[in-house]
Amino acid sequence: MSPQHGTPSPARGGGRPRRHERTKPRPDRGSSVVNREDLRADCSACFGLCCVALPFARSADFPRDKPAGRACGHLRDDFGCGIHARLRDEGYRGCTVFDCFGAGQKVSQVTFGGIDWRRSPESASAMFGVFPVMRQLHELLAYTAEALELPAARPVHRELRGALARIEELTRGDAGSVVALDVDALRGEVNPLLLRASELTRARAPGRRKDHRGADLMGARLARADLRGASLRGALLVGADLTGADLRDADLIGADLRGADLSGADLTGALFLTQAQLNAARGDTATTLPPSLERPAHWAREVSAGGVVDA
Ligand code: SF4
Repeated sequence: MSPQHGTPSPARGGGRPRRHERTKPRPDRGSSVVNREDLRADCSACFGLCCVALPFARSADFPRDKPAGRACGHLRDDFGCGIHARLRDEGYRGCTVFDCFGAGQKVSQVTFGGIDWRRSPESASAMFGVFPVMRQLHELLAYTAEALELPAARPVHRELRGALARIEELTRGDAGSVVALDVDALRGEVNPLLLRASELTRARAPGRRKDHRGADLMGARLARADLRGASLRGALLVGADLTGADLRDADLIGADLRGADLSGADLTGALFLTQAQLNAARGDTATTLPPSLERPAHWAREVSAGGVVDA
Protein backbone atom coordinates (compact mmCIF):
# COMPACT_ATOMS: atom_id res chain seq x y z
CA MET A 1 0.00 0.00 0.00
CA SER A 2 1.99 2.29 0.44
CA PRO A 3 1.91 4.67 -1.87
CA GLN A 4 5.47 3.91 -2.39
CA HIS A 5 4.58 0.34 -2.93
CA GLY A 6 5.37 -2.64 -0.93
CA THR A 7 3.89 -1.18 2.19
CA PRO A 8 0.20 -1.33 1.74
CA SER A 9 -2.06 -0.55 4.58
CA PRO A 10 -3.75 -3.25 6.44
CA ALA A 11 -7.04 -4.88 6.17
CA ARG A 12 -8.42 -4.07 9.58
CA GLY A 13 -11.31 -6.15 10.75
CA GLY A 14 -14.75 -4.67 10.57
CA GLY A 15 -17.24 -5.20 13.34
CA ARG A 16 -15.28 -6.27 16.32
CA PRO A 17 -11.60 -5.70 15.72
CA ARG A 18 -10.17 -9.06 14.94
CA ARG A 19 -6.90 -10.71 14.21
CA HIS A 20 -5.57 -9.82 10.80
CA GLU A 21 -6.34 -12.52 8.27
CA ARG A 22 -2.87 -13.74 7.79
CA THR A 23 -1.37 -17.04 8.71
CA LYS A 24 -2.40 -20.09 10.56
CA PRO A 25 -0.62 -20.53 13.86
CA ARG A 26 2.82 -22.00 13.33
CA PRO A 27 4.40 -24.44 15.70
CA ASP A 28 6.83 -22.53 17.85
CA ARG A 29 10.03 -24.47 17.24
CA GLY A 30 13.50 -23.22 17.81
CA SER A 31 12.75 -19.53 18.35
CA SER A 32 12.36 -19.60 22.11
CA VAL A 33 12.88 -15.88 22.70
CA VAL A 34 10.08 -15.02 20.30
CA ASN A 35 6.55 -16.33 20.25
CA ARG A 36 5.58 -16.75 16.60
CA GLU A 37 2.09 -15.53 17.44
CA ASP A 38 3.62 -12.17 18.31
CA LEU A 39 4.86 -11.92 14.72
CA ARG A 40 1.34 -12.08 13.33
CA ALA A 41 -0.76 -8.95 13.10
CA ASP A 42 -3.31 -8.69 15.88
CA CYS A 43 -5.50 -5.76 14.89
CA SER A 44 -7.50 -6.06 18.10
CA ALA A 45 -4.42 -4.95 20.06
CA CYS A 46 -3.35 -2.19 17.66
CA PHE A 47 -4.40 1.43 17.40
CA GLY A 48 -4.94 1.27 13.64
CA LEU A 49 -1.37 2.38 13.08
CA CYS A 50 -1.05 1.21 9.48
CA CYS A 51 -4.25 3.11 8.64
CA VAL A 52 -2.81 6.32 10.06
CA ALA A 53 0.97 6.29 10.10
CA LEU A 54 1.51 5.20 6.49
CA PRO A 55 0.75 7.30 3.43
CA PHE A 56 -0.96 6.01 0.36
CA ALA A 57 -1.26 7.35 -3.14
CA ARG A 58 -4.10 7.15 -5.61
CA SER A 59 -3.35 4.15 -7.80
CA ALA A 60 -4.64 0.73 -8.69
CA ASP A 61 -4.27 -0.07 -4.99
CA PHE A 62 -5.98 2.99 -3.49
CA PRO A 63 -8.78 5.24 -4.70
CA ARG A 64 -7.32 8.39 -3.16
CA ASP A 65 -4.25 9.99 -1.63
CA LYS A 66 -3.59 10.06 2.10
CA PRO A 67 -0.56 11.60 3.76
CA ALA A 68 1.39 9.86 6.51
CA GLY A 69 0.04 10.70 9.95
CA ARG A 70 -3.55 11.31 8.88
CA ALA A 71 -6.16 8.70 9.70
CA CYS A 72 -7.90 7.04 6.80
CA GLY A 73 -11.51 8.18 6.59
CA HIS A 74 -12.68 4.59 6.97
CA LEU A 75 -10.91 4.03 10.28
CA ARG A 76 -13.53 3.77 12.99
CA ASP A 77 -13.38 5.01 16.55
CA ASP A 78 -12.63 1.49 17.76
CA PHE A 79 -9.70 1.27 15.28
CA GLY A 80 -11.53 -1.24 13.08
CA CYS A 81 -11.99 -0.69 9.35
CA GLY A 82 -15.45 0.45 8.33
CA ILE A 83 -15.24 -1.24 4.93
CA HIS A 84 -13.28 -4.33 5.84
CA ALA A 85 -15.57 -6.72 3.97
CA ARG A 86 -15.57 -4.56 0.82
CA LEU A 87 -11.96 -3.40 0.58
CA ARG A 88 -11.27 -4.79 -2.88
CA ASP A 89 -14.64 -3.70 -4.22
CA GLU A 90 -14.04 -0.17 -2.93
CA GLY A 91 -10.61 0.05 -4.56
CA TYR A 92 -8.50 -0.50 -1.42
CA ARG A 93 -6.66 -3.56 -2.70
CA GLY A 94 -3.47 -2.22 -1.11
CA CYS A 95 -5.01 -2.68 2.31
CA THR A 96 -5.46 -6.40 1.70
CA VAL A 97 -1.81 -7.06 0.90
CA PHE A 98 -0.15 -5.40 3.86
CA ASP A 99 1.37 -7.26 6.77
CA CYS A 100 2.88 -5.53 9.79
CA PHE A 101 4.25 -8.84 11.19
CA GLY A 102 2.88 -7.86 14.61
CA ALA A 103 4.60 -4.47 14.72
CA GLY A 104 1.28 -2.69 15.28
CA GLN A 105 0.49 -4.38 18.57
CA LYS A 106 4.13 -4.12 19.69
CA VAL A 107 4.16 -0.33 19.22
CA SER A 108 0.67 0.08 20.68
CA GLN A 109 1.01 -2.14 23.72
CA VAL A 110 4.74 -2.25 24.46
CA THR A 111 6.40 0.91 23.18
CA PHE A 112 3.48 3.14 24.16
CA GLY A 113 2.05 1.05 26.98
CA GLY A 114 -1.49 0.77 25.65
CA ILE A 115 -2.19 4.51 25.48
CA ASP A 116 -3.58 5.31 22.03
CA TRP A 117 -2.94 8.40 19.92
CA ARG A 118 -6.48 9.67 20.32
CA ARG A 119 -6.25 9.69 24.10
CA SER A 120 -2.71 11.01 23.98
CA PRO A 121 -2.38 13.20 20.88
CA GLU A 122 0.99 14.48 22.07
CA SER A 123 2.45 11.00 21.50
CA ALA A 124 0.89 10.55 18.06
CA SER A 125 3.81 11.82 16.04
CA ALA A 126 6.32 9.64 17.88
CA MET A 127 4.05 6.62 17.62
CA PHE A 128 3.60 7.06 13.88
CA GLY A 129 7.36 7.48 13.47
CA VAL A 130 8.17 4.29 15.35
CA PHE A 131 5.70 2.08 13.48
CA PRO A 132 7.49 1.80 10.09
CA VAL A 133 10.79 1.04 11.85
CA MET A 134 9.17 -1.55 14.08
CA ARG A 135 7.59 -3.16 11.05
CA GLN A 136 11.00 -3.69 9.50
CA LEU A 137 12.31 -5.16 12.75
CA HIS A 138 9.37 -7.53 13.03
CA GLU A 139 9.77 -8.58 9.41
CA LEU A 140 13.38 -9.48 10.18
CA LEU A 141 12.23 -11.37 13.27
CA ALA A 142 9.71 -13.32 11.20
CA TYR A 143 12.29 -14.36 8.61
CA THR A 144 14.82 -15.25 11.28
CA ALA A 145 12.29 -17.30 13.21
CA GLU A 146 11.34 -19.14 10.01
CA ALA A 147 14.99 -19.92 9.28
CA LEU A 148 15.23 -21.43 12.75
CA GLU A 149 12.49 -23.87 11.79
CA LEU A 150 14.48 -25.22 8.83
CA PRO A 151 16.21 -28.45 9.92
CA ALA A 152 18.76 -28.24 7.11
CA ALA A 153 19.83 -24.80 8.38
CA ARG A 154 21.06 -26.25 11.65
CA PRO A 155 24.69 -25.18 10.98
CA VAL A 156 23.59 -21.54 11.34
CA HIS A 157 20.95 -21.98 14.03
CA ARG A 158 23.19 -20.74 16.82
CA GLU A 159 23.91 -17.48 14.98
CA LEU A 160 20.26 -17.14 14.02
CA ARG A 161 19.21 -17.55 17.64
CA GLY A 162 21.65 -14.82 18.62
CA ALA A 163 20.29 -12.48 15.94
CA LEU A 164 16.73 -13.23 16.95
CA ALA A 165 17.41 -12.40 20.59
CA ARG A 166 19.20 -9.20 19.72
CA ILE A 167 16.51 -7.90 17.38
CA GLU A 168 13.80 -8.80 19.87
CA GLU A 169 15.64 -6.83 22.54
CA LEU A 170 15.88 -3.84 20.19
CA THR A 171 12.12 -3.91 19.62
CA ARG A 172 11.65 -3.37 23.35
CA GLY A 173 13.53 -0.10 23.44
CA ASP A 174 11.78 3.21 23.92
CA ALA A 175 10.45 5.19 20.96
CA GLY A 176 13.58 7.29 20.59
CA SER A 177 15.94 4.34 20.53
CA VAL A 178 13.84 2.41 18.03
CA VAL A 179 13.63 5.33 15.62
CA ALA A 180 17.38 5.87 15.87
CA LEU A 181 18.21 2.29 14.83
CA ASP A 182 20.15 1.67 11.65
CA VAL A 183 17.86 -1.00 10.28
CA ASP A 184 19.77 -1.31 7.02
CA ALA A 185 22.92 -2.21 8.94
CA LEU A 186 20.99 -4.74 10.99
CA ARG A 187 19.54 -6.23 7.85
CA GLY A 188 23.03 -6.44 6.42
CA GLU A 189 24.05 -8.58 9.39
CA VAL A 190 21.05 -10.88 9.28
CA ASN A 191 20.71 -11.35 5.52
CA PRO A 192 23.84 -13.52 5.14
CA LEU A 193 22.43 -15.87 7.77
CA LEU A 194 19.08 -16.07 5.99
CA LEU A 195 20.87 -16.63 2.71
CA ARG A 196 22.94 -19.45 4.20
CA ALA A 197 19.83 -21.03 5.70
CA SER A 198 18.21 -20.82 2.28
CA GLU A 199 21.19 -22.38 0.50
CA LEU A 200 21.42 -25.24 2.98
CA THR A 201 17.72 -25.96 2.60
CA ARG A 202 17.51 -25.62 -1.17
CA ALA A 203 20.50 -27.92 -1.58
CA ARG A 204 18.05 -30.76 -0.95
CA ALA A 205 16.25 -30.05 -4.21
CA PRO A 206 17.22 -32.43 -7.01
CA GLY A 207 18.75 -31.23 -10.27
CA ARG A 208 20.17 -27.87 -11.16
CA ARG A 209 18.69 -25.08 -9.05
CA LYS A 210 17.96 -21.92 -10.99
CA ASP A 211 19.25 -18.59 -9.74
CA HIS A 212 16.85 -15.74 -10.49
CA ARG A 213 17.91 -13.60 -7.57
CA GLY A 214 16.79 -10.02 -8.19
CA ALA A 215 15.77 -10.88 -11.76
CA ASP A 216 13.32 -8.80 -13.71
CA LEU A 217 10.69 -11.39 -14.58
CA MET A 218 7.79 -9.01 -14.90
CA GLY A 219 5.13 -10.66 -17.04
CA ALA A 220 7.41 -13.65 -17.69
CA ARG A 221 5.90 -16.81 -19.10
CA LEU A 222 6.88 -19.39 -16.55
CA ALA A 223 3.91 -21.73 -16.81
CA ARG A 224 4.84 -25.21 -15.60
CA ALA A 225 8.45 -24.08 -15.13
CA ASP A 226 10.73 -26.22 -13.01
CA LEU A 227 11.69 -23.75 -10.29
CA ARG A 228 12.16 -26.29 -7.55
CA GLY A 229 14.76 -25.05 -5.10
CA ALA A 230 15.29 -21.91 -7.19
CA SER A 231 16.42 -18.61 -5.76
CA LEU A 232 13.82 -15.96 -6.55
CA ARG A 233 15.04 -13.62 -3.83
CA GLY A 234 13.85 -10.13 -4.60
CA ALA A 235 12.76 -11.14 -8.09
CA LEU A 236 10.28 -8.92 -9.89
CA LEU A 237 7.49 -11.32 -10.79
CA VAL A 238 4.69 -8.80 -11.25
CA GLY A 239 2.08 -10.29 -13.56
CA ALA A 240 4.21 -13.36 -14.27
CA ASP A 241 2.50 -16.52 -15.47
CA LEU A 242 3.50 -19.14 -12.93
CA THR A 243 0.55 -21.45 -13.54
CA GLY A 244 1.45 -25.00 -12.73
CA ALA A 245 5.04 -24.04 -11.85
CA ASP A 246 7.03 -26.22 -9.50
CA LEU A 247 8.12 -23.84 -6.75
CA ARG A 248 8.78 -26.40 -4.09
CA ASP A 249 11.54 -25.25 -1.72
CA ALA A 250 12.05 -22.09 -3.79
CA ASP A 251 13.29 -19.02 -1.91
CA LEU A 252 10.79 -16.20 -2.44
CA ILE A 253 12.03 -13.70 0.10
CA GLY A 254 11.11 -10.21 -1.03
CA ALA A 255 9.83 -11.39 -4.41
CA ASP A 256 7.21 -9.08 -5.88
CA LEU A 257 4.29 -11.33 -6.77
CA ARG A 258 1.69 -8.67 -7.46
CA GLY A 259 -0.72 -10.03 -10.03
CA ALA A 260 1.41 -13.14 -10.64
CA ASP A 261 -0.70 -16.15 -11.53
CA LEU A 262 0.01 -19.05 -9.20
CA SER A 263 -2.92 -21.18 -10.31
CA GLY A 264 -1.97 -24.80 -9.97
CA ALA A 265 1.55 -23.96 -8.78
CA ASP A 266 3.19 -26.06 -6.08
CA LEU A 267 4.59 -23.92 -3.27
CA THR A 268 5.23 -26.74 -0.85
CA GLY A 269 8.18 -25.81 1.34
CA ALA A 270 8.59 -22.38 -0.30
CA LEU A 271 10.99 -20.34 1.81
CA PHE A 272 10.21 -16.95 3.34
CA LEU A 273 6.90 -16.71 1.51
CA THR A 274 4.48 -14.39 3.31
CA GLN A 275 0.73 -14.15 3.38
CA ALA A 276 0.99 -10.62 2.01
CA GLN A 277 2.81 -11.94 -1.08
CA LEU A 278 0.08 -14.51 -1.62
CA ASN A 279 -2.63 -11.91 -1.12
CA ALA A 280 -1.06 -9.80 -3.87
CA ALA A 281 -0.95 -12.73 -6.30
CA ARG A 282 -3.60 -14.75 -8.05
CA GLY A 283 -4.20 -18.42 -7.61
CA ASP A 284 -6.83 -21.09 -7.37
CA THR A 285 -7.92 -24.15 -5.47
CA ALA A 286 -5.23 -26.18 -7.23
CA THR A 287 -2.39 -24.04 -5.85
CA THR A 288 -0.51 -26.01 -3.22
CA LEU A 289 0.50 -23.83 -0.27
CA PRO A 290 2.81 -24.28 2.70
CA PRO A 291 0.64 -25.38 5.66
CA SER A 292 1.25 -22.15 7.59
CA LEU A 293 -0.30 -19.94 4.91
CA GLU A 294 -3.91 -19.51 3.89
CA ARG A 295 -5.55 -19.41 0.50
CA PRO A 296 -6.59 -15.77 -0.04
CA ALA A 297 -10.34 -15.30 -0.08
CA HIS A 298 -10.23 -13.53 -3.42
CA TRP A 299 -8.59 -16.43 -5.26
CA ALA A 300 -10.71 -18.51 -7.56
CA ARG A 301 -12.83 -20.78 -5.47
CA GLU A 302 -13.33 -23.52 -7.96
CA VAL A 303 -11.78 -24.97 -11.02
CA SER A 304 -14.27 -25.96 -13.66
CA ALA A 305 -13.63 -28.35 -16.50
CA GLY A 306 -13.19 -25.37 -18.76
CA GLY A 307 -10.84 -23.42 -16.55
CA VAL A 308 -10.66 -21.28 -13.47
CA VAL A 309 -13.76 -19.57 -12.20
CA ASP A 310 -12.99 -16.42 -10.26
CA ALA A 311 -14.62 -15.89 -6.92
S1 SF4 B 1 -9.63 1.35 4.12
FE1 SF4 B 1 -8.64 2.69 5.64
S2 SF4 B 1 -9.32 1.92 7.66
FE2 SF4 B 1 -9.72 0.29 6.11
S3 SF4 B 1 -7.86 -1.03 6.17
FE3 SF4 B 1 -7.55 0.50 4.54
S4 SF4 B 1 -6.42 2.19 5.54
FE4 SF4 B 1 -7.32 0.94 7.18
